[in-house]
Amino acid sequence: ITEQTPLAERLKALNHPDFIANVAATIGHEVGNPLTTVRGYAQLLERDQNFTNEQKVALKWIMKESDRAISVVEDLVQVARCNRLITWQPLSIRGLLHSIAILLEAQVEKCNGKINLDLQCHANIYGDPKRLRQVILNIVLNSIEALPEKDGQVWIKAREDKGIVHIEIEDNGRGMSAQDLEKLKRPFFTTKSKATGLGITMAFQIIEEHQGCLEVFSNEGVGTMVRISLPIVECDASVSTSA
Ligand code: ADP
Ligand code: MG
Repeated sequence: ITEQTPLAERLKALNHPDFIANVAATIGHEVGNPLTTVRGYAQLLERDQNFTNEQKVALKWIMKESDRAISVVEDLVQVARCNRLITWQPLSIRGLLHSIAILLEAQVEKCNGKINLDLQCHANIYGDPKRLRQVILNIVLNSIEALPEKDGQVWIKAREDKGIVHIEIEDNGRGMSAQDLEKLKRPFFTTKSKATGLGITMAFQIIEEHQGCLEVFSNEGVGTMVRISLPIVECDASVSTSA
């Protein structure tokens, strides 16, 4: 697309989901990153003992308003990412889950927890690796964020049964009340102070797009289990888990 492209064609391109996703990614990068820097420096300055009270209040406002703007930018990026066109390809569930467990290992250790893998599954499915990765990453992160201070455990399991692969992500975290469980599908439902509340909403949407099923079981004070069931396809998945 250039200035020479006919107007009608340019307008059509503006409506393309990939264009919208690109704009959001650019905003995330060009606005989100500088804001994060601003916030970081304000936090650094806050440690300076020589500031007057008035100046300290000003710094608090810089941080508070930066946080607000950062979270709006993050929401926008996430929603637009979901809007991207689906790219279907064969992928290995085992490879996908394994790479996510490795990615989050350090994070779970920081919370004194552990990720346990039990992958009884060599099946491939047909899907969008970036989206499925986003879904599972979000769910495992939710588990990590819910873990108790001691002996936190996250189990990531996969098994095959009658042409379906069942992925289960279970934790011994704080769990959810029946009321919260009911609100889970609602966009922007969150109990966290700096979160979007879009993770599970998008997970339901993305799993549905993959002709799959997502179920959440939770017991307050005991733990949570999220089960994703997806149809297995006969295909070669040698290409695909690195999205
Ligand atoms: P976010 O993580 O941004 O808050 P999500 O849609 O991922 O949004 O989750 C919504 C809410 O559901 C969380 O704020 C939390 O209260 C609850 N939740 C989700 N997963 C778990 C879990 N594994 N354990 C306890 N609570 C959970
Ligand atoms: Mg989440």
